[in-house]
Amino acid sequence: MSTTNVHVAPTSTQLDTIFQRQREAFRLKPYPSLSERKAHLKALCRLLLENGQAIAAAIDADFGHRSSHETQVLEVFPALQAAKHARWHLGRWMRPERKHVSVLFQPGRARVVKQPLGVVGIIVPWNYPLYLAVGPLISALAAGNRAMIKMSEMTPRFAELFEKLIGSYFAQDYVAVVNGGVDVAQAFAAKPFDHLLFTGSTAVGHSVMRSAAENLTPVTLELGGKSPAIVAPDFPVDVAARRIIWGKCLNAGQTCIAPDYVLVPEGKEQEFIDTARDEVQRLYPAGAASADYSAIINARHYARLKGYLKDAQAKGAKSALLAEGESETSRKLPPALVTGVTDAMQIMQDEIFGPLLPIVPYRSIDDALAYVGKRPRPLAMYYFDYDRARIRRILNDSIAGGVTINDTVLHIAQDNLPFGGVGPSGMGQYHGEEGFNLFSKRKGVFLQSRFNGLRLFKPPFGRQIETILKWLLR
Ligand code: NAD
Repeated sequence: MSTTNVHVAPTSTQLDTIFQRQREAFRLKPYPSLSERKAHLKALCRLLLENGQAIAAAIDADFGHRSSHETQVLEVFPALQAAKHARWHLGRWMRPERKHVSVLFQPGRARVVKQPLGVVGIIVPWNYPLYLAVGPLISALAAGNRAMIKMSEMTPRFAELFEKLIGSYFAQDYVAVVNGGVDVAQAFAAKPFDHLLFTGSTAVGHSVMRSAAENLTPVTLELGGKSPAIVAPDFPVDVAARRIIWGKCLNAGQTCIAPDYVLVPEGKEQEFIDTARDEVQRLYPAGAASADYSAIINARHYARLKGYLKDAQAKGAKSALLAEGESETSRKLPPALVTGVTDAMQIMQDEIFGPLLPIVPYRSIDDALAYVGKRPRPLAMYYFDYDRARIRRILNDSIAGGVTINDTVLHIAQDNLPFGGVGPSGMGQYHGEEGFNLFSKRKGVFLQSRFNGLRLFKPPFGRQIETILKWLLR
């Protein structure tokens, strides 16, 4: 794909034209059949299978460096898997659900029928631009909707490629990609979609929800935050350190559910650091210069991350670099652990979204829980323990969008689990059947039977209703 083409952002009128076309097409065909929906999901699978290399190359170019393997493993494969999962289960998801009817209304029958909402808007961030566009799109298409997708201006090459690909696999009145800067994103969020799913920062989430409120458009906000990892007192620290640092180094820490900081039993910090360093050498033998290690997306984010280290060091923290290979020109930032952190440091206030990992020592598991509980509710939480009762307690006494026990990140890859944040890390959830339901109107339908006893409840009221009421209001 040529990257020299200058992309022209759609004007507000063009956005509106696409939106109106989709809406009108939906009005004319409001309930795509199972086979039509499966055909759309199949087209999406073909798009992924036939263009994996081009997709990886475009994302690599946008990042300055991202391994094609990482893109295939973390974006193309999970997107394909999610599309296949939806194809396999869609028939069951679409089936009306029978509901119990109270004896008073029998022999009437109750059903929930699932209906497409109409035109869905999807706003995509830059960190996993394929997976976070295709994931919501799968849910929207499975539920029978049409969709408009706004890609991030920070991944322009991939955005342009994706716009072309969607244009060649889908009619524009079914799925359309629109690209452009923040002005386009704002105009997009202001469209009266039937549902708007936004993935991005908590700060922008506020603005998206305000725009949607003008139209009473329901929103799903997939936001970020500081996701903690807790290592239980008697859990092998080396096992935890290897799994945590692996999850942290994916995409150089630019992952919404990357462990943001780790709570380690007091006295075990050094063991954690030593094992993490050993694991990083194993995963990335040439350190940050390794071909498998991603670059930081742009100079602003590189400077932001370096700024966290500088601020923390100035306020008394120590950092332990886990590898060599730092390069400002290619924006390669090696993973680093930070000890001696306090709440006064920026690194403990903002979502890090990069390969820096603060280590916070704790004395008792109660202290660790309290530390997490006093902070904004995170998108993800990781807990390392083999004690079932303690695991249960941690799950009950902490609130987070999703949890992986004894590893990191993997809950996102489970098609049967809901995915989404809570409080400042998001609202609503999708993936698999949850995503199908999110983009469906679950319409309650009562079917009255030919013969029924409702006449007993209708005027003129007399002694009969009084007897019935005596029984009902007891
Ligand atoms: P961002 O909020 O800066 O941008 C996300 C998208 O919103 C972009 O497409 C952008 O064009 C658009 N946008 C910007 N301003 C807008 C406005 N005023 N109105 C409407 N849209 C607007 O986020 P980002 O930097 O691309 O992504 C990083 C953030 O996303 C992190 O906080 C990360 O945790 C979060 N994230 C969350 C998930 C999740 O699934 N919960 C996944 C990935 C990333």
